[in-house]
Amino acid sequence: MKYPALQDAELSGRRVFLRADLNVPLKDGRIVDDTRIKAILPTIRYLLDRGASLIIASHLGRPGGVSNPELSLAPVADRLGELLGKKVLFAPDCIGARVNTIAASLNSGDILLLENLRFHPEEKQGDMDFARKLASNSDIYVNDAFGTIHRSHTSLTGIPALLKGGYTGLLVQKELKVFGEMLSSPVRPFSLLLGGAKVSDKIPVIDNLLSRLDHLMIGGGMAFTFMKEMGMSVGTSLLELDRLGAARQILNDADKYGVDIHLPLDIVIAPSAGRPDLARTVPANSIPDGMAGLDIGPDTVEEFGKIIGKSCTVVWNGPMGVFEIPPFDSGTRGVAKALAEVTGNGTVTVVGGGDSVRAVMEAGLEDSITFVSTGGGASLKLLQGMELPALVALKGGRQ
Ligand code: AMP
Repeated sequence: MKYPALQDAELSGRRVFLRADLNVPLKDGRIVDDTRIKAILPTIRYLLDRGASLIIASHLGRPGGVSNPELSLAPVADRLGELLGKKVLFAPDCIGARVNTIAASLNSGDILLLENLRFHPEEKQGDMDFARKLASNSDIYVNDAFGTIHRSHTSLTGIPALLKGGYTGLLVQKELKVFGEMLSSPVRPFSLLLGGAKVSDKIPVIDNLLSRLDHLMIGGGMAFTFMKEMGMSVGTSLLELDRLGAARQILNDADKYGVDIHLPLDIVIAPSAGRPDLARTVPANSIPDGMAGLDIGPDTVEEFGKIIGKSCTVVWNGPMGVFEIPPFDSGTRGVAKALAEVTGNGTVTVVGGGDSVRAVMEAGLEDSITFVSTGGGASLKLLQGMELPALVALKGGRQ
């Protein structure tokens, strides 16, 4: 589905409300990682070069609807100004008289960053009165907040409803293009590598993609529900008993569609994630009672690596183990390395998902992957084949 794009908009002399995702990690008031600020720069420059003035809004962290100086966007305004080499004005709130006064003084090429949207509970409530206040200083709405585009919050759906639609920014366009092409015409063999804690999150992804896949590799905590359904003992590993039926359905459907399912061959176990000192590797069908599977083992990494090596398109979402705690990070690092290696040989590799992206970054492999998505939740929804309300809102009722 096509959404109105920034390139379609008349921008000269217009006041643009730019919803960005500037939800950067902060420590002691300092920005730890400015990737998300850098990701929005092309859209900002595009808008400024065409004579618009900008009011930029974002959320930061989870302030729970109350003002919290520790989650202020003020440091982001400073960093944005440094990166752009120009002054970025900062408003102490996202609505109200002070904002209106500063906004009224903006000229073509000026930038105003508003304070954290989530200091107001109305942001998460789809509150149209709040939307009216947010929109009151703008003529045009642009959404380039891919990391949060799967949400229906006021700044994402309410403002475009008031401004009769809106436009996608360059970052959102890039993400939609990658996922769109991959879903509609993947170069085959097409493989999906899934991990993470919960089967329930990933079932709709498998349901949407299964008929188009050649290989489905399953690691992480979600693998144990499948292994249990196949009759294996899984000890105290993560298990979603109410999803055993769904796992069976997927195994049967895979058979029907001729998709090869690959489950772990070996597992790294310990009494719990808090006892990495007791970690050892066992065959997948030999997990003792009282032990939890916390990572895929080296044979599985090698096997998944072979499948990845045979593929022309690979999508990865979800870590292979409790990658936050070594040595349970080996499997996740191993598949990240395998993906980086095949990318150099021409395979299209897409990593979509918060934790798998973090693992790729920690391994310093982000430049060796074809596309690393900036939105975990959003990319999951796209992989599920869902239409996102924030994107539909940009159409403003147009078909
Ligand atoms: P998700 O948000 O579903 O992708 O899950 C990510 C989380 O899954 C990470 O915090 C991992 O620590 C966790 N995880 C992955 N594998 C396992 C496992 N075998 N046991 C427990 N947690 C796991």
